Amino acid sequence: MVGISHLHPDHVSDLPAFLWLSHEVRKEPLKIFGPTGNDAAPDFATFLNRLFDEKSGAFPVLGSALGDSYGGGGVRPDIGRVVAGGVRLDVGVIDAAKAEPSLVFQREGTTVTAQRIPHGNMPTLAYRVQTGNVSVVFSSDQNGTDPKFVEFAKGANVLIMHLAVAPGTDVPLHATPAIVGRIAQEAGVGQLIVSHFGLFNLDAAVADLRKFYSGPLIVGADMQCTPVQ
Ligand SMILES: [Zn+2]
Repeated sequence: MVGISHLHPDHVSDLPAFLWLSHEVRKEPLKIFGPTGNDAAPDFATFLNRLFDEKSGAFPVLGSALGDSYGGGGVRPDIGRVVAGGVRLDVGVIDAAKAEPSLVFQREGTTVTAQRIPHGNMPTLAYRVQTGNVSVVFSSDQNGTDPKFVEFAKGANVLIMHLAVAPGTDVPLHATPAIVGRIAQEAGVGQLIVSHFGLFNLDAAVADLRKFYSGPLIVGADMQCTPVQ
């Protein structure tokens, strides 16, 4: 499954490229989830329609993602254009206004839950993946002011959190390094991976985080693989 946290461009604009030609390696529908909408963003199903609708979408060549009337790859006779026949999506919209976690996905020993998190006025979800006795929590963008997220991340083997602003920055969208460190410490996670760095002195930010978090810490990088401890 794919879990979308929110509709800020830096979190979702790669989706069409990710799906493009995916039918060549996948035949069954792909479960994909995202948040409900509000004044700041459409709900996730509407967002996908605006992207992939076979007539009015930004990428009609990916209309098959929504199960268009054509379905396969090749030249569509009605529009005279080549379409890729990308994998069909099985879309779920998760209530991003609900205080308690939602069950998103459950299959063969893997459970995924989602929790609303505060990120300005943008409906935003964190995800927790539990598989066997290993759990990984994806914080996404958040300002770290909701104690329910600490509960949600409690005891996770791995917590991945965004480090988007410099120490001492006061913004409604993002948690400072100190808050990221405090959340990881209070949640008692096995290890913290930080990612999503802004343009600031990373060493200084990590030093600030370290004042509040004493556990294992990894500074994330693209394509990095991390053994779960
Ligand atoms: Zn964001």
